[in-house]
Amino acid sequence: MTQHVPAALPDRIRHYIDGAFVDSVDGDTFDVLDPVSNETYVQAAAGKQADIDLAVAAAKRAFDEGPWPRLLPRERSRILHRVADAVEAQDARLAELESFDTGLPITQALGQAKRAAENFRFFADLIVAQHDDTYKVPGRQVNYVNRKPIGVAGLITPWNTPFMLESWKLAPALATGNTVVLKPAEFTPLSASLWADIFRDAGVPDGVFNLVNGLGEDAGDALVKHPDVPLISFTGESSTGQLIFANAAPFLKGLSMELGGKSPAIVFADADLDDALDATVFGVFSLNGERCTAGSRILVERSVYDDFVERYAERARNIVVGHPNDPATEVGALVHPEHYEKVMGYVEIGKTEGRLVAGGGRAVGFPTGNYVAPTVFADVPPSARIFQEEIFGPVVAITPFDSDEEALALANDTKYGLAAYIWTNDLKRAHTFSQNVQAGMVWLNSNNVRDLRTPFGGVKASGLGHEGGYRSIDFYTDQQAVHITLNQAHSPRFGTGGPL
Ligand code: NAD
Repeated sequence: MTQHVPAALPDRIRHYIDGAFVDSVDGDTFDVLDPVSNETYVQAAAGKQADIDLAVAAAKRAFDEGPWPRLLPRERSRILHRVADAVEAQDARLAELESFDTGLPITQALGQAKRAAENFRFFADLIVAQHDDTYKVPGRQVNYVNRKPIGVAGLITPWNTPFMLESWKLAPALATGNTVVLKPAEFTPLSASLWADIFRDAGVPDGVFNLVNGLGEDAGDALVKHPDVPLISFTGESSTGQLIFANAAPFLKGLSMELGGKSPAIVFADADLDDALDATVFGVFSLNGERCTAGSRILVERSVYDDFVERYAERARNIVVGHPNDPATEVGALVHPEHYEKVMGYVEIGKTEGRLVAGGGRAVGFPTGNYVAPTVFADVPPSARIFQEEIFGPVVAITPFDSDEEALALANDTKYGLAAYIWTNDLKRAHTFSQNVQAGMVWLNSNNVRDLRTPFGGVKASGLGHEGGYRSIDFYTDQQAVHITLNQAHSPRFGTGGPL
């Protein structure tokens, strides 16, 4: 298969600190591979403590002395709309680069680029629409909330849909007047550099946006432990989240954590089964299955189970695996050979734990590259590792159930709690199940769609806090309460026996 290589790839991926692209202080680099050839296509600067120190110092200076936190919301909003315009104007190019770097199908990468622009537009609008809270006690007090940006926000992001997930943190952090240091995932650093030009051209002052590439244990760790970074917003694996939580504890940093998942899709016999089938195929095989909210455990009521499994396997067998750049491709190449090996390891484990009904190995016709055949295991017991552990690839476990109680017990039987998808036409059952399922987000008879105003986040091992809409504004701002007494007669006084 011929490899598609985008035009004008950079000759080196550098950090971006205080308005300039720079190499690492020690000159160190790491290899970046593309997932089709698995060959190094570029070297990226390997940031460490010294690079993080420079980036944090620049961000702190821009926060303490620069105009960004002091601009009117309207002025910041105008600049962020220009960012959204620029992302929109080059979405095809962004999608091409992202697809090349991550292995995501180009059509899906394009959707993610458009979403990144929407994130900026959304927060640009939100900060001008927002009115701060005021609480009045007539004749006695006025209380108001003074929202203030916090300082330097450390943003640490994963390799799945990197550009879009970066926008999800960058947009609210910048909209609220913070300055940032972004540490993107080392598997996929290509698109993050584009932010530098986009922000500069839109009028974001130097030092407000800083980017340090590098490994998690070096650059990521140094950012988490930096005393001048009061906020860390992290998206990644639950085990990394635990480590970051511990490392940030001595500083009592503000933390937002979007972590892993093993989300159930529950299909009751009374559901619109064609829709449920379609959505559950989308739920696990879109974005190559490298999706935190993947519905990777499908629980199906026994009376429709055999038929559902057969139709599901048939659908999976017909998924078009192909080159990420081909518009016909539905599942592309997994991000990295390490991740490919991990997913293939689970496929082998699955063969001893469940009944293989589709896929089960390397995609046919793809002797090289990280191509996994869409894989379906049926009759998977809850004790199975492929039922419990996040695989993060095009692999799904299907399990039958006999009652609502059993479905709920199965749905809740993992350490994760990110999303749940419920398929039923019984209104009472749908809402009862939603109340009892341990998931931060529930989709009822619907695909993975979300209005940007709603909170996004998980419970249990899937996360801490929420992002999205006002929750992001809350995370990136201090909310200082200011109390004003209007009439001293109603103020407590020492020694008078009045209320204190
Ligand atoms: P990861 O945890 O390996 O890495 C994420 C980021 O953390 C990378 O930038 C990495 O360099 C950095 N990192 C690693 N070790 C670190 C350390 N000790 N200190 C500081 N930073 C460190 O995750 P990944 O493999 O890149 O991403 C996949 C995971 O992300 C999956 O578990 C997926 O479910 C999760 N995810 C969650 C959401 C969500 O919103 N809940 C969204 C997307 C992805």
